[in-house]
Amino acid sequence: MTSAFLKLDRVTKRFRNVIAVDKASLDVGKGELLVLLGPSGCGKTTTLRIIAGLETPDEGRVYIDGVDVTDMEPGDRDVSMVFQDYALYPHMSVFDNIAFPLTVKRGKLRLSRRDIEERVLKVAKMLRIEELLDRKPPQLSGGQQQRVALARALVREPKVWLMDEPLSNLDALVRMQVRAELKKLQKDLGITTVYVTHDQIEALTLADRIAVMNKGRILQVGSPKDVYENPEHVFVATFIGAPPMNILECEATKEIIECPGFSKPLPPSTRGLQGKLYVGIRPEHIEIVSISEVTKEDVVEARVYVVEPLGSEYIVNVVLGGEIVKVRTSRELLLSPGDTVYLKINWSKASVFDFESGRSLGKLLKALVS
Ligand code: ATP
Repeated sequence: MTSAFLKLDRVTKRFRNVIAVDKASLDVGKGELLVLLGPSGCGKTTTLRIIAGLETPDEGRVYIDGVDVTDMEPGDRDVSMVFQDYALYPHMSVFDNIAFPLTVKRGKLRLSRRDIEERVLKVAKMLRIEELLDRKPPQLSGGQQQRVALARALVREPKVWLMDEPLSNLDALVRMQVRAELKKLQKDLGITTVYVTHDQIEALTLADRIAVMNKGRILQVGSPKDVYENPEHVFVATFIGAPPMNILECEATKEIIECPGFSKPLPPSTRGLQGKLYVGIRPEHIEIVSISEVTKEDVVEARVYVVEPLGSEYIVNVVLGGEIVKVRTSRELLLSPGDTVYLKINWSKASVFDFESGRSLGKLLKALVS
């Protein structure tokens, strides 16, 4: 009935008066790694638990491999899930915890003890916990427990892996190492995966596609490049990118668009734009130029607020009509707070969003350049 390997069809879940998931539809292809990205409380975990069968949706259906699993018990769905709170067995060794999904189904999976040992060692090595196999969970740090929980999910090859912030407790270096290993393993084995995170860097680096959620709704599903370059909603624009897209509250009249600190004439092709709207400009699409290089009509005057060095680049915060705007540059410009600067904006890359709905109205107006 569907070509998607995992499909959510208008799934809704309410907890008393809270709508945790609101008509969420999603198609995940076989072998795809889809990241569910959104802020705390937006409904990511609930969506994952619905796929796992730990919550029953109030409305909508869930399909795995063409089968409607909405009313199926979690154990019958052939999914493995890494929980946010690890849920390890405290009295079992790390080895036995990781081996557990294999030992309970040993007969069915036709695995010898040796096969199990090999698999456990492989995944433990990958997650850098092979020295901990004889310990018990209470003797481990939070980050180590999290890796054991992840290992327990990865040791089996189910139809779907479900992962809820599985790297959140690891320090930055280990997180980067494990993230790369996880991506490699997922690609090697081709296991369809839904991965929940609120960390947009994690989403951009791991995902084949990202589904951005806010307030129970899926606002956009697309490749990392797509959600970054063509956000369909102002929320997506501000949630993805570090620093995020600059959003200016502007007003369009028939012939002019007025933004904080500047205004521009609107060419005839854009006269449909009327009233308040948001204009979004990524920090890398603004250039600080010397006034001798350009004419004053092409640039916007602003004042330096503060400069943040990031090693290989700088984020220059400038004040534009009372608003702080962030500019990304690789040049060391030796600017001080209060200096006047001239900004050249790449209008062909800018986005416009409806003021009421937040929905994208498309790329701003290549024509504005002229
Ligand atoms: P986080 O990143 O903080 O884990 P999340 O995006 O995973 O957040 P959910 O845990 O899915 O969000 O929660 C979505 C909404 O549903 C929240 O408002 C939450 O308070 C509410 N909620 C979740 N589970 C329950 C429950 N069992 N009973 C009542 N409300 C719940």
